Amino acid sequence: MDRTGVEPKIAQLYLTVDDGPNKHTLPIAEILARHGITALFFLTGLDVLKHPEITRCITDHGHRIGNHGYTHHALDVMTIEEKRKELVDTQNEIIAITKIAPVKFRPPYFAWRQEDNNILDELRLAILYEDVDMGDATKDFKVDYELAEHQLEKKRKRKDYIVILMHSREHSLDETERMIYWYEDRNCVFFP
Ligand SMILES: [Zn+2]
Repeated sequence: MDRTGVEPKIAQLYLTVDDGPNKHTLPIAEILARHGITALFFLTGLDVLKHPEITRCITDHGHRIGNHGYTHHALDVMTIEEKRKELVDTQNEIIAITKIAPVKFRPPYFAWRQEDNNILDELRLAILYEDVDMGDATKDFKVDYELAEHQLEKKRKRKDYIVILMHSREHSLDETERMIYWYEDRNCVFFP
């Protein structure tokens, strides 16, 4: 309930988990699946190459996979050919394992130039940025509920669904269940 005593409108959440796959990714995927939540995991091609079995398990749990570049380097300073290779190689690694071509892309560090969108068109990828950042990639990798609350309240008034960003990190794994309850307490429902 807010200050006026009125329940805030229900917010539909779409959870995205960046980086990896690494040893924290599958436990996060399992906790979400237990709660009936499917998420979109933005993976890097190099980590997919290192962990094909984790990659496969993510989709086995009903989650989706997005393209997060190959090396997790900032793409905006690369040549057009280097950028294309980062995206193409990542698509190929993911398709080789899951047989599904990602349709969403999130540039590492949000470093992307709009004039390069033709690469995305070629690969049938759409950029997906976040609305609410759990803050777990900064500030000593701690989940920042104050930041999340602020962003959530701002977005819920004008958006039909809200994209949440968290990371495949140890601290985020420890917080995953608490995060789910935290949102549910705020009249939010996750994408099933
Ligand atoms: Zn990242």
